[in-house]
Order: sequence, then structure tokens, then C-alpha cells
Amino acid sequence: MVDELDIRNKARQFMVGLDLSRIDTNLSVYIQKVKAKLKTEEMSEGDSGYTLTKRDGTSTIIVNELERRERQRFSACHEIGHIVLDLSSNHKETPPWSYAKREDNEIACDMFAAELLMPYEQFKADVDKAEPSFELVERLRAKYVTSFSATASRVAAVTDYPCAFVTMNSSVIRHASRSATLRTLNAWIVPKSPIPGGSVAHQLVKDSERSGESSDVSQDVWFQDWPQGYDLIELAKHYPEYDETFALLWFDGDSGPEEPVNTFSAKPLEDDGGLKELDGVLQFSKRTKRR
Ligand SMILES: [Zn+2]
Repeated sequence: MVDELDIRNKARQFMVGLDLSRIDTNLSVYIQKVKAKLKTEEMSEGDSGYTLTKRDGTSTIIVNELERRERQRFSACHEIGHIVLDLSSNHKETPPWSYAKREDNEIACDMFAAELLMPYEQFKADVDKAEPSFELVERLRAKYVTSFSATASRVAAVTDYPCAFVTMNSSVIRHASRSATLRTLNAWIVPKSPIPGGSVAHQLVKDSERSGESSDVSQDVWFQDWPQGYDLIELAKHYPEYDETFALLWFDGDSGPEEPVNTFSAKPLEDDGGLKELDGVLQFSKRTKRR
């Protein structure tokens, strides 16, 4: 089990005192701090990166030069995660008995990478300037040089709106990133469940359309065990060629419930089927901030 709070704290400790003003073009502040060099080489498709560490503690991080720049940056920061967190990497040739362990290490390093690439304070300040939208995601993605889904997940996670970003293929929900406000309201999106009927995303897949939006999607379409009577805004995109579908959901202004919804059913303590949310909010502040 990945201790998300611990990972995010370690990433932020690692970043303390570093000059982050140019990380959009240059990750050397991070690379130097772990006594590493960054190199690129041609790797086979699907391989993103690896690290060679010498006995003297210096390392070389190698990323796949055939991948897009944003992906290379993410891989470099993921590898830094392996070094700082001292988590072994086993990107391939994984024996079946270590599968769960490997997954945890990789998830932890992905969280670490998201923290490094989208520093919380600065990223949140940018998110707070506008209401959630794909335009905002595109703008921040260009600024932070990150992938669309990593950026959108972090937008949803750090915004003060009750907001969620859902990634899907053409039939099933893969992951949902929710803001602290939405979590506090007990809005729960079931991972691995079918894209819900009545959602904009479902309609796009059905009609093979690429984008759509609605400002009155009944929230019980998306959230499990919720009362009716609240409407959500849903923006959705569908990319048939990549088998990817995305939805950005939020409550506008004061249109959502004020109090946590009592859903009566047992929820797992950690959700999202092992894929931890790319959240920027530490848990202790979450508890004290809202109320
Ligand atoms: Zn890894």
C-alpha cells in the first residue's frame, strides 16, 4: 500500500530551497540534487527510462529520446523518485510474485514526479485564477510541460471547486481524481465501472463524437449513492483513435450540497483501485481547512 501523504511530503521536502523558476525548461536543479546526470537514448517502444547508480552514489538517469518531451520529463522525475525514495525499480522482467510490490513502487514514483513537475503552491495559484475547463488544462499543460491527463488530474485535485477529472477508455472508468471539497462531500466515483449512461462521456462514445458539454448532468449519474436534485457541469472529450475518454465534472458556485452526503454504504478507505489520486492537498490540512 502506498502511503500517499508520506510520498508527497518527501517530494516537498526534496524541493525545499530549490530554485523552481526554470523547471519548465530545465530539470537540472532536481537532477543535481540527487547527484545524477541526465541522458537520452533510443529505447524500444514502451520503455521510458532507467537509472544506473555507481558505488560512489552518483547516478545516470537515462530516458527514451523517442518519447515526447513531456513524457521524457515525467520519466526523469519518476527516476529521481526511485533514487530519493530508495525504491527499487523493476520496469520489466518482473517475476509474478513481486507484481504488487512493483506496482506500489511505480505508483509512488509517479506521485513523486507529479509533485516535482507541478509544484503545489505555484500550480494551485494558477488553478485558482479560473474556473475548471479544458482550456485551463491546456494552458497549464503548456506552462508546466506535462501530459494532458497528469495536468487535468492535478487541476481537479487542487481546485477549491467540488471537482473531478475522470479518465476512461471507451467503456470503463479507469481513474478519478477529486478535489478535497468533493471528497469531503463523499462524492465517490466507482473505478472499473462502466461509463455511466446519461453522462456526456457516454453519449460521445455512443455517437463517436469528440467533444461535448452539458451544464445540467444530474450528479447521481456520476456519484454513487447520491440524492438527486443537484446538477453538475460536465465537459468531456473522446479520442476513438487512442481509446481514451476524459470528463471534467464540477459544481458551479453554490449549486452543490453544503454538507457531506451520508451514503450509508461502506467505502474502502483508500479508493481508486490502487491508483492513488494525483492530489496536491496534504491530509492534515484537508482536515483542518474545511469548516
Ligand atoms: Zn519506475
